[in-house]
Amino acid sequence: MPALVWMRNDLRLTDNPALYAAAKSGMPVYVVYIHDTAQPWAVGGASKWWLHHSLHAFTHALGGNLNLYIGDSAEVIRNLVKRLGVTHLYWNRTYEPAAIQRDTSLKATLRQQGVQVESFNGSLLQEPCDVRNKSGEPFKVFTPFWRALQTLPMRTSLPTCQPTCLRDNKALPLDALDLLPRIKWDSGLAQHWQAGEAAADDRLEAFIANTLPRYADSRDLPAVQGTSRLSPHLHFGEISPIRVWHRIKQEVEKSPNFGQQADKFFSELAWREFSAHLLTHTPSLPDTPLRTEFAAFPWQADYAENLTRWQRGQTGFPIIDAGMRELWHTGYMHNRVRMLVASMLVKNMLIPWQEGEKWFWDTLVDADLANNSASWQWVAGCGADAAPYFRIFNPVLQGQKFDPDGTYVRRWVPELAKLDTRYIHAPWEAPKDILLQAGIMPGTTYPRPCIDLKATRDRALAAFAKIRKAG
Ligand SMILES: Cc1cc2nc3c(=O)[nH]c(=O)nc-3n(C[C@H](O)[C@H](O)[C@H](O)COP(=O)(O)OP(=O)(O)OC[C@H]3O[C@@H](n4cnc5c(N)ncnc54)[C@H](O)[C@@H]3O)c2cc1C
Repeated sequence: MPALVWMRNDLRLTDNPALYAAAKSGMPVYVVYIHDTAQPWAVGGASKWWLHHSLHAFTHALGGNLNLYIGDSAEVIRNLVKRLGVTHLYWNRTYEPAAIQRDTSLKATLRQQGVQVESFNGSLLQEPCDVRNKSGEPFKVFTPFWRALQTLPMRTSLPTCQPTCLRDNKALPLDALDLLPRIKWDSGLAQHWQAGEAAADDRLEAFIANTLPRYADSRDLPAVQGTSRLSPHLHFGEISPIRVWHRIKQEVEKSPNFGQQADKFFSELAWREFSAHLLTHTPSLPDTPLRTEFAAFPWQADYAENLTRWQRGQTGFPIIDAGMRELWHTGYMHNRVRMLVASMLVKNMLIPWQEGEKWFWDTLVDADLANNSASWQWVAGCGADAAPYFRIFNPVLQGQKFDPDGTYVRRWVPELAKLDTRYIHAPWEAPKDILLQAGIMPGTTYPRPCIDLKATRDRALAAFAKIRKAG
């Protein structure tokens, strides 16, 4: 009577409710991962790279006993249950709309056939359906959501488990999943990241030791290691948010003066919860503006050239280009800079937010359907509890505020490395002799700004006024 644990974004042994339940049952277990080719929002390029290395690490942690497959997950599971004579099936729930539909229907079919199916919360502090307002409705605004979430009891973190694993000799080798790029563009990812549960634990401990004590002050500075960089580990479930939460609470008990810093960090984790909440209750979030008047927004008709400049980090605005190049090289971009590049795309360039969302989806190692679509809608002003539309970030002022000596820009835009700090965020204002000294030829070694900041800001505000009037 074997059991089967279907791994999804939960590639870890510690605090893994589905794996824990299977191990506790005492049955021998097939631990299975399926690279799904039938779901919408197929894994993007940078995430595939991460997934390959995460699966490699998890296989190793299971003593080589992870069974891999490719195809339509529901079909693969139905076939495995039949062929291997599985009587008990366990998984941790995921919250993408198509996955919810698939899992609900699969659960019903298999239960009808007499298979015991159990699913668990493995990836959130609280599940989307458990956080409700006083009228029993889902939340649309972050602050009351966060307040309500904190009143709910949180389970403890489960111990590490190692079930008795079975091997299916028809399972595929990892390379058959074809996750690594054929043309080698991934060396930057390998330099900056290590996937897997052990690496996630190390990152959490390094964060607690070095960054947590000043998190609230340093989290907006892209030049320093001021945040946890746990996002890809959390997305792939190499560490659970519950474990992160308890581990940090433990630290705060030892050093109560970290309390405020930890609270700020917890509220960021809560944005992750809020995004999952929004996606679960509004499945159209990745495609359609939550504020319906934005469906008629007058986007630019011919935006291909500016989109390419933005994607390649060639806009002529140093902090924007630095961010887009950091993303291309490392698969990550600092949160403050994500907000700036998104505002530039959507507001100054008037390019639909879905274009930016798609680019991030393909290039981020932490690409996450809920966080990505909720954040794009937030910046675009059309989401739940969104940034007001008239808040259009000025990349020069933001650069001067959050990267005052230009360290971040110099790191990612080396052609500006020698430029005097006074002009690092606005090279077009530098006198000719200063540019010459820094070896910069505007329009040749570094692009001139591709748009006029003031004129495009006015144009965006006028476009917004138009839809407000119509709505
Ligand atoms: C346009 C845009 C797109 C984004 N796309 C994604 C995405 O695809 N995947 C993703 O994980 N995050 C996304 N974010 C949110 C945020 O930028 C990243 O979560 C954060 O930069 C990750 O770095 P960190 O782990 O060091 O964060 P920390 O500051 O250390 O925060 C801890 C954790 O909290 C969560 N978190 C933090 N900020 C947010 C936020 N604003 N929204 C949701 N969760 C948050 C993340 O899981 C993060 O790992 C996006 C933000 C913007 C503005």
